[in-house]
Amino acid sequence: MEVTQQQAPQNIGWIEVVAGCMFSGKTEELIRRLRRAQIARQKVIIFKPRIDNRYSTNQIVSHNTQALESIVIDKAEEILTLAGDAQVVGIDEVQFFDMSVVGICNKLADEGKRVIVAGLDQDYRGVPFEPMPQLLSVAEYITKTLAICMVCGNPADRTQRKIANADRVVVGAADSYEARCRKCHYIPD
Ligand code: ZN
Repeated sequence: MEVTQQQAPQNIGWIEVVAGCMFSGKTEELIRRLRRAQIARQKVIIFKPRIDNRYSTNQIVSHNTQALESIVIDKAEEILTLAGDAQVVGIDEVQFFDMSVVGICNKLADEGKRVIVAGLDQDYRGVPFEPMPQLLSVAEYITKTLAICMVCGNPADRTQRKIANADRVVVGAADSYEARCRKCHYIPD
């Protein structure tokens, strides 16, 4: 569910989570919401973790190459000091921050800000990816984006890793991963 302009809460903050697998359009959706806030002349600030270095270091970029200026940070704590008087705070790839990001999002929302985060909700094994479960719990609005299974064409919410690597995080070329449904997804050896 997405908060609409008509239904938007007045004079309070809130948290929106866009959750999904790779290639499900999470970042496109985050960019779309942030762009609309900018058009409405709201002060918007966007963060992303340094771990994601693909294509650009100071923009959030989706696989279909839409981009928005963003601030690359090493620790979630930096969000609190940098957010300033922004009315809308966007965070991309939020699963790469530690659990402290949950309290930080709550604090920003408590201060009256609209907080919009996007992230992978499952790792390559299909295991919930912290801090996403906790963020989903404290958010007012949740959107799950689905991709298309590359094997059978059904709606897909899993990320299939196609390379041998047991690390939870392997940031790399899109061709190391593809979207799969629960039937076609498997855990690589
Ligand atoms: Zn499938």
